[in-house]
Amino acid sequence: MTETDEGELADIEQGRKLFLRPCQFVAGAMTADQLPDMQLPEIAFAGRSNVGKSSLINALTNQKSLARTSQTPGRTRQLNFFDCGERLCLVDLPGYGYAKASKTDIKAWTGLTLDFLKGRATLKRVMLLIDSRRGIGDKDREIMSIFDKSAVSWAVVLTKIDKLSATEKTAVTANTLAEAAKHVAAWPGVFVTSAEKAVGIDELRGHIFSLID
Ligand code: GDP
Repeated sequence: MTETDEGELADIEQGRKLFLRPCQFVAGAMTADQLPDMQLPEIAFAGRSNVGKSSLINALTNQKSLARTSQTPGRTRQLNFFDCGERLCLVDLPGYGYAKASKTDIKAWTGLTLDFLKGRATLKRVMLLIDSRRGIGDKDREIMSIFDKSAVSWAVVLTKIDKLSATEKTAVTANTLAEAAKHVAAWPGVFVTSAEKAVGIDELRGHIFSLID
């Protein structure tokens, strides 16, 4: 076992412990002045509507309905803040790319997300969720460029990997890694996950622990 492996295993164990603490909803913001004060280190989650964001947050926190799943896509237009054991704050950013959303709505939540990303010294990383069946799309690329411009550190998380064959999984992982590598602000790796089958959840928890430790 290499030193890196040992470090990762230790982080996984600490990450598991971190998420044994209860997480609870503490604030929702629809406008910049509703953003809560910066206190705990924050990890944010972004992605298209229906990417599996609520399911992933629920899987990470071992809580079945912390973030609501299967709501009408695009309904959740606010930034939701969850305190996890007073050690960490998870931030659920509004899903983007919902076809039926109005231009005014899109402008409002894009503006709020930008305000958040630019002004958050406590924000350690944004996890950008990509549906592994779709791969990275144009809407995701727009968000990546917003992250790059805001100098936010971000990482790609592939979701719903249980829906892919082994060959498809290898291809989407390689393509995603190659695209993320073109961005300086992107973490040079990709998390491959399934909230449904609990794949990659331990590794993601370990990574989150390493960011706030
Ligand atoms: P959100 O809109 O991004 O919060 O997405 P949800 O978490 O509500 O998930 C959208 C849909 O994808 C729901 O029907 C989920 O059951 C499904 N889903 C989410 N995660 C997974 C997964 O890991 N595997 C599979 N097969 N389906 C998933």
